Amino acid sequence: MRISRRLAAAALAVPLALSMTAGSAQGGSRPGHPHPGGCRQWIALTFDDGPSSYRTQTLETLREKQVPATFFDVGVRVAANPQFAGFEAREGHLVLNHTWDHPRLTTLTAEEVRSQLARTEQVLARAGAPLPFRLVRPPFGATDPAVESAFTAEGYAFVTWDVVAVDWDVATTSEEVRDTIVQALRPGLVVLMHDGPIDSAAGAADEAALPQVIDRARAQGYCFGQLDAEGEVVRARYRGTRAPVPEVINPVPYLPLTETSRGQLPPEPYVVVDPAAQN
Ligand SMILES: [Zn+2]
Repeated sequence: MRISRRLAAAALAVPLALSMTAGSAQGGSRPGHPHPGGCRQWIALTFDDGPSSYRTQTLETLREKQVPATFFDVGVRVAANPQFAGFEAREGHLVLNHTWDHPRLTTLTAEEVRSQLARTEQVLARAGAPLPFRLVRPPFGATDPAVESAFTAEGYAFVTWDVVAVDWDVATTSEEVRDTIVQALRPGLVVLMHDGPIDSAAGAADEAALPQVIDRARAQGYCFGQLDAEGEVVRARYRGTRAPVPEVINPVPYLPLTETSRGQLPPEPYVVVDPAAQN
């Protein structure tokens, strides 16, 4: 799996809104902020594949720690539980496109890639989280020149990540998730976590690791930003609301379970979906 981060068509990515720009948020005087003098080292926490049953806990941890995050959600899961997307946007999180049902895009036609992007865009907009800009994280980080051309044609840049633990395997512990990320800390780091992968029963280890990752990064002087339209880490600010954190109401779509679930099943409610039936 690709561990480096690449960008495509960055110059062609057209911001749909200018609400989030570098320097628009200062960490300064918020209560509980660990760096009252301001931050010089920023990293971004990104969460792929949701919203799953683990999203509620992720959002509660982010609220408790006052951390803004970037979510790369899959459309089929947003459609199943649309109550998360608008809440996330109002809390100051960034919700972006991780395709409709998580295919390996290199196996699709350009029209199918376009459809994967467009359907997810539409469901996020209907759920109250219209894209602020077109940035996609391709499932598995898998692209090729044809996929990248399809992204460009739709006005998308893409981003992968700098560090990820093997958190889709239920055998990976929270300590392993935490240590993998903490050992990689450097300014501008893009961290990938899964609060419930679409194709495995994992997720609990990430939930246990998340507050520790936040605390250890802060102890080393890091603050938490988000991604910009070109996939770079920029300053951001958590905006708390008083709204209750949503919970999963409808069955969470799972792709046929893989060996990384090791016989475990995801939290109820869930439904196993056939990707072929989604198109
Ligand atoms: Zn994914």
